[in-house]
Amino acid sequence: MNCLVVGGGLAGLASAVWLAEAGHRVTLLERRGALGGRTIAIPQAEVDDIPDNGQHVFASGYQHLFRYLESVGTREHVRFPGTMTFRMPGGAWQQQSVKGLAALRPALGDLPGVTGLDRARTAVAQARLIRQSLRQPADLDEITADEWFRRIGMPASARKAQWDGIVIGLTGDKPDISSAKVPADLLATGIRRAIATRTPVSIGYPTVDLDTLFIRGAEKVFAERGVTVRTSATVRCVDVQDGHLQGVTLVSGESLRADAVICAVPVWKVRGLLDQVPGHEVIYRACEHLTPVPIVSVNLYLDRSIEMADWGEILYGGEGVLEQVWDRQRMHGRDPVKTWFYSTTVSAAYELVRCSNAEILEQQLGMLRRYYPAARDAQVVHSHIVRMPASTFAQRPGTAGVRPPQRTQVPGLAIAGDWTRTDWTTTMEGACQSATLAVEAILGEGRPL
Ligand SMILES: Cc1cc2nc3c(=O)[nH]c(=O)nc-3n(C[C@H](O)[C@H](O)[C@H](O)COP(=O)(O)OP(=O)(O)OC[C@H]3O[C@@H](n4cnc5c(N)ncnc54)[C@H](O)[C@@H]3O)c2cc1C
Repeated sequence: MNCLVVGGGLAGLASAVWLAEAGHRVTLLERRGALGGRTIAIPQAEVDDIPDNGQHVFASGYQHLFRYLESVGTREHVRFPGTMTFRMPGGAWQQQSVKGLAALRPALGDLPGVTGLDRARTAVAQARLIRQSLRQPADLDEITADEWFRRIGMPASARKAQWDGIVIGLTGDKPDISSAKVPADLLATGIRRAIATRTPVSIGYPTVDLDTLFIRGAEKVFAERGVTVRTSATVRCVDVQDGHLQGVTLVSGESLRADAVICAVPVWKVRGLLDQVPGHEVIYRACEHLTPVPIVSVNLYLDRSIEMADWGEILYGGEGVLEQVWDRQRMHGRDPVKTWFYSTTVSAAYELVRCSNAEILEQQLGMLRRYYPAARDAQVVHSHIVRMPASTFAQRPGTAGVRPPQRTQVPGLAIAGDWTRTDWTTTMEGACQSATLAVEAILGEGRPL
């Protein structure tokens, strides 16, 4: 088949790679001047380094993403160290491990700042949380995560230490906004995958920049299999006549014919592209209900080590935001011969995203100095601020079922992207699972990938 893939983010890259692997002729069309979408590296000539647009972490259950990495030959570049650390203001820290007896400590309520009776209350509330994730109360999509936590009796101290941050990390948004069903579904998916694979749920990271991880390998596959890549090619609409797919038209006016199209653009770019597709109103409903959430990342090159205890640390007490610090020396085996490179991430950064670069830098440096005594006199050699107003999407109560399936009413046309219906939310895994389902929809029911 002559296939067009619209959008060169992870969902589009994976769709193009897998359609080419299946022996089809593929053209990938990307609006921007380069591939990668929301997962890209941004080279910094000043320090001769290649930081990313924001730290991306992996969950051990990301099976479709790992399949993509196998296809493009970069699976070896993801590591699961089995630990993560909570850091308190002043410098105290507590490490959590997924291995051995230490893995049970959080389940028993042993969390930073959770003391006395709250430990027992936390253990009971967490058991309820897991039970209700696996066997969900009928009204879970009618309440927020915040209301759910109160209903199951999760102590405020445990929320501050861990659970509010987990909701922001998993759903991309704040507990008082996000539907309770979103973290519940994700916890259920994670638990079921962990049982099926007999591997504890664990968080990992890439040991190389995101371009090397996701794009360079794909480009090799494209070269080997004759995939055409067109950047700066913005699709204006998918062309459908009498219910039959014709191809796409670019904003330049050029029309391209195709037997199959996968449209893998983000939810905030899909409106207008599918106007000729019967049933597009149902797809467009997602545009109203899945709203963009900002992440602000700062790549900081310092003149000294801030003496982190772990590769990634979650800062205790972020009020309504999730703050994390990443040690790129450990993660990338980077030699700090000239500078020490740390990256900070603030998720659900609705206020911070509106600040100036100078304000963001000052705020993030102040934060490092509060949590890391060794950072008190550190000087900034180079900084690089990445504001992404549309990083992930929020899913509010009453929106279960709003994410559309990949298969459309038009034979040969499928949609993909992290916002389409998958077992995951707004993640790299959601993007890759959507690509699997879109390619299967194109290849036909009887021919799974
Ligand atoms: C800072 C940050 C941190 C994150 N952290 C994590 C994390 O730790 N773990 C995790 O799993 N996920 C994380 N995510 C989310 C993850 O990056 C996304 O869910 C995923 O990359 C989405 O991929 P996608 O292909 O669906 O969309 P995108 O990457 O947005 O790709 C869509 C592409 O379509 C192109 N396009 C749009 N319109 C058109 C058009 N008309 N014609 C042609 N092309 C078009 C766009 O330019 C873009 O390249 C993070 C995201 C950000 C921004």
